[in-house]
Amino acid sequence: MKKALVLVGGGRAHVEVLRQLAVKPLTDIDIALFDPSPSVWQSGMLPGVIAGHYAANDAKVNLWALCQRARVRFFEAPILAVNGENQRIESGFGERHRFDILSLDIGGVTKALPTAPGAYVVSTRPIEPLLSAITEFESVRSAALIVRVIGGGATAVEIALALAWRWRDAKNRRVSIVCDALLLSEFPPAARRLALRACQRHGVTVRENSPVRQIDPTRLRLENGNLIDTQLTILATGYSPRPLLEKSVLTKTDEGCVAVDAQLQCLRLPGVFAAGDCADIAGLKVPKASVFTDRQGALLAANLLAALQGHPLLSYQHSPRALRFLTLGDRRALVTRGNLVLAGGWAWNMKDARERKWLRRYSFE
Ligand SMILES: Cc1cc2nc3c(=O)[nH]c(=O)nc-3n(C[C@H](O)[C@H](O)[C@H](O)COP(=O)(O)OP(=O)(O)OC[C@H]3O[C@@H](n4cnc5c(N)ncnc54)[C@H](O)[C@@H]3O)c2cc1C
Repeated sequence: MKKALVLVGGGRAHVEVLRQLAVKPLTDIDIALFDPSPSVWQSGMLPGVIAGHYAANDAKVNLWALCQRARVRFFEAPILAVNGENQRIESGFGERHRFDILSLDIGGVTKALPTAPGAYVVSTRPIEPLLSAITEFESVRSAALIVRVIGGGATAVEIALALAWRWRDAKNRRVSIVCDALLLSEFPPAARRLALRACQRHGVTVRENSPVRQIDPTRLRLENGNLIDTQLTILATGYSPRPLLEKSVLTKTDEGCVAVDAQLQCLRLPGVFAAGDCADIAGLKVPKASVFTDRQGALLAANLLAALQGHPLLSYQHSPRALRFLTLGDRRALVTRGNLVLAGGWAWNMKDARERKWLRRYSFE
């Protein structure tokens, strides 16, 4: 019987695995990919999709097409449970599948906040419901609209500024950011200043040090007892593991991510691998960002092949230094590396070129 490699989730690390398989197919292994979605987003372009700089279809990789090239069977279905001990997975079709080697790259969801029935709340992950909510509100509400983006990181800033740019001619739509501490507190002070200036320029109000206790249908209830109006609330509150991990037999960290070693192999479960946002590498603090998922993708591809062939595995070498981009609504961005911060249209062009290059790499253009 052929050995079975199962890939769960068509995230960024797995698209690299698929690309390598497309270049050099493995005909003696039965390989399957499960994902409820037929395409994966270049998430760095999402603010640009909201702002109107890109069409949604131009910011995705087609998983079907990639699997076809890689001679991988694609199942457009979620995996509902993983049992790493008896090497079985259960798919959304209600079927159980056996695996010899399993790899998880399923990303995550946004941290939830207590929400009263009737509140209109969407998250930045997954992405589709957010885009639908925006267009739905546009089509049914010509009257005033107040949008609150909850969160203080790069995603909150990018989404709020993108919405403000999208609605730059609609004076009755107001966008604001509500964050529990200071905006961009993990960025150098110069980045924070530039982002605050961009918010001011685009009419985005920023309410700092205002933790939200609960989201009611038309109001945010703050920890200090204050109430602020909202009609559409967008959560950009940071990463939380997918419910699938809670239901699965895997070694996990206290935060609920898959606990892996430097070879991306699940602790105490040889033959089970995980990469990207859903995995935490023991002893390292790897930020949940696509730049690090991409770095893990090439290593994951090599290690999955090595595990199938009984060869030694390679280790992930973490380098925290990376360019971090933050888009500012219009075709401008700021870029940071360490404490160096620069901003301008050229930074947006640089980010745009890198993201298009990533898409081309997986579209085989
Ligand atoms: C709005 C936004 C903007 C961002 N901008 C940037 C940026 O500019 N730079 C940066 O470095 N990072 C950015 N990030 C973070 C970045 O998106 C993530 O770190 C990156 O996508 C992680 O890749 P991943 O492969 O772990 O997961 P993902 O890319 O999220 O892929 C996960 C895949 O798993 C699939 N899946 C989910 N559940 C199941 C299941 N049960 N069974 C099977 N498949 C499943 C999903 O459908 C999806 O295809 C941004 C995130 C957001 C939300």
